[in-house]
Amino acid sequence: MKILRHRLHAGDGPAVPYESSPNRGEPLDPDYLVMHFTAGPSAASSIRWLTSRRARASAHLVIARDGSVTQLVPFNRMAWHAGPSAWEGRRGLNRYSLGIELANAGPLEQAGGRWRAWFGETYADDQVLTATHRHESAPRGWELFPTAQLQVAAEAASELVRKYDLLDVIGHDDISPHRKVDPGPAFPMESFRSRVMGRAADTEPVYRTTTSLNLRAGAGTHHDRVLDRALPPGTRLAVLDAHAAWRRVDVLDVVDDEMDLQGWVHGHYVERAPATDRADRPAADGEAPARV
Ligand SMILES: [Zn+2]
Repeated sequence: MKILRHRLHAGDGPAVPYESSPNRGEPLDPDYLVMHFTAGPSAASSIRWLTSRRARASAHLVIARDGSVTQLVPFNRMAWHAGPSAWEGRRGLNRYSLGIELANAGPLEQAGGRWRAWFGETYADDQVLTATHRHESAPRGWELFPTAQLQVAAEAASELVRKYDLLDVIGHDDISPHRKVDPGPAFPMESFRSRVMGRAADTEPVYRTTTSLNLRAGAGTHHDRVLDRALPPGTRLAVLDAHAAWRRVDVLDVVDDEMDLQGWVHGHYVERAPATDRADRPAADGEAPARV
């Protein structure tokens, strides 16, 4: 990808499709990239909404689940994606940031054995992560982001960071924590940020499993398990490497009397551990069926 005259181009090819949004403001010299999800059924429906005046909202890019990208506002103009927000001493992040919307249903509730979005669409179990948002107290469902969508988002984000010399990639839930939950726990913010910013996170991040999770010899379910027993929920991990949705990890807790375990786990079932979780403590014991 590359950026010419504040428009995104796919490789050396033409600019990505452009649907102009009237919901835009003054000239922009961005410092941050803010990631969002649309909480909508499709990219097309979100693009229709964000290009209508009554939405009074927009974003620079909308990325569909299949990875197709549409630009709504040039990167040198303010889009209306952040709303009331604050970060690093600044208020009203629209004036300081670019915004990418990922087509995604957002939070889901259980209804009749299916996961249901607020707009009525249902999602199968394998499209859904059950997790507690770090600003919430109870778990709910979150639609997973397909690999194709994350891949394109990372490419576009890397190009934006390089072109506009951005300081960081952050979530809407970072800058509007009491109002917004996007991009939410299904979005792999830490690995995305590391990849896009081209540097390790500021401190050695500690991750933890969100469910019983198999530790495997390679990146895929066809690889053998390193341990007969799954890692229990809450097992602390350091992430060493990534391949698609898989993460090569160092297991920081003692599991099954084994120390210094390494292997691969599915990245959808690990999350950044809160700072209070970093002290040494045994992992929670759980016998739930292991995921992937
Ligand atoms: Zn948002």
